[in-house]
Amino acid sequence: MDEVVRYTYRLRPGRTAEKVLLAEWDRCRWLWNEAVHQHKSGRKPTFARLGKLLTRARASMPWLREGSQVAQQQILRDYARALEHSFTVKGCGRPKVKSRKRSLPSLEYTRRGFSVREGRLMLPKGIVIPVVWSRELPCEPTSVRVNRDSLGYWYASFVARREIAAPPPGEGGIGIDWGVATTATTSDPAFDLPHIGHRRRCAAELAKVQRRMARRHRKGRPPSRGYADAKRQAARLAKKAARRTVHDSRVWAKHVVDRHDLIAIEDFQPAFLAKSTMARKAADAAIGAAKGALIERAVRAGRKVVMVRPAYTTMTCSACFARAKERLELRERDFRCEGCGFAASRDRNAARVVLAVAERGHVGVEDVRQSDHLLRVGGSVAV
Ligand SMILES: [Zn+2]
Repeated sequence: MDEVVRYTYRLRPGRTAEKVLLAEWDRCRWLWNEAVHQHKSGRKPTFARLGKLLTRARASMPWLREGSQVAQQQILRDYARALEHSFTVKGCGRPKVKSRKRSLPSLEYTRRGFSVREGRLMLPKGIVIPVVWSRELPCEPTSVRVNRDSLGYWYASFVARREIAAPPPGEGGIGIDWGVATTATTSDPAFDLPHIGHRRRCAAELAKVQRRMARRHRKGRPPSRGYADAKRQAARLAKKAARRTVHDSRVWAKHVVDRHDLIAIEDFQPAFLAKSTMARKAADAAIGAAKGALIERAVRAGRKVVMVRPAYTTMTCSACFARAKERLELRERDFRCEGCGFAASRDRNAARVVLAVAERGHVGVEDVRQSDHLLRVGGSVAV
């Protein structure tokens, strides 16, 4: 078995290389915008048509010829794909003009447009960029996308084919309940994902910088240098926190998926309310990252994934499926069943309910109760 994956690394282009990359992006951006205008003037630009136009344009315009043909073809291919996508997907807008200020540089090179030599990325027109090899590429990459983010950092994202070892056979199922203090509580305590301390530290640092931003903010006057510095620092910290969260999520997801063949997940949707606190937002972001990583990993490993509706999971007994008469208050952290006497922490019980629902082939507590009830009264329901 093999799969296509992206490997992303930081780039450290020198001043000259960065200037050349930006000039390359300007030419590609111009081509994209030309294609947008073509479409507006009523002709549907397919990639074949755009390719011919590119050949002609390069023949007549020396400044265009100064750029890499591979990157230029690639942006037109991207455009044609985006246009096709906008026709087939309902509610998707046509590709828009890429403005100099708003769009972020992004260049794609196929195999004949780049190479990696002595640890450096070699691009057409003599561009040489040192790469920070944070991990090894598994094999020869087939293409690379070079892009700059909003903070001004450059990245190279290589597309590579990777051999994957079949995951070890799992041992039964696991249920997952999401929360604030503990990001993921699972039916087996060994797999819990705590809301890790360094996130709290990042949040504290971020809050400090945001206070500095507030102090330096001058109402009705152009932003000061100190304000701009603080804003940049805040963006950098937020990015760092997000990166760590994603990393932790991936490590945890692998740990969980390698050992289970049924992954039952509470289908929790964070609300991202404007009014919610910073801590709540950070917790929701951690849940989002962990849920995404878990589903991706589990599907890739061919495990069975069941999304369970969150309704009633905290007020149902995971041992006998009796439902408590009243909803547990949020501050009550323990669950005790009045029917069978089963007691566990509120989140642990919910994780066990999520697993039990999935094991019975359902996606909601209500479904289990209904089918159980029908069986009890002797209904003729095929299960
Ligand atoms: Zn019970």
